[in-house]
Amino acid sequence: MIVTCFKCKRRFELDPIFVGFELHKLKKKNPSHYQAVCPACRAITKMSVKEMQAELDESAAEIEKMVADYEEEKAKAKAEKKAAQKAKTEAKEEETVAEE
Ligand SMILES: [Zn+2]
Repeated sequence: MIVTCFKCKRRFELDPIFVGFELHKLKKKNPSHYQAVCPACRAITKMSVKEMQAELDESAAEIEKMVADYEEEKAKAKAEKKAAQKAKTEAKEEETVAEE
């Protein structure tokens, strides 16, 4: 989809997969707008999700896959952090025992 920057009028292309993914990350149930950042001047142009819906629907499968990968990575990172914390606590406990 083509976006025209409201500020500098530059036209740039948006990948609907990326837009769908970003919309997911907003954690809003039904976001009405997507904030497209102009690559030239960094101004934010608000895009109506409703107007992009057809293109988002066309890429729904790819968006879903990207979101699933992202959630998986996030869950993995969380689990790793938890495991690291647990290992640290256990190491500490062992240290205490050794001192006694
Ligand atoms: Zn611009």
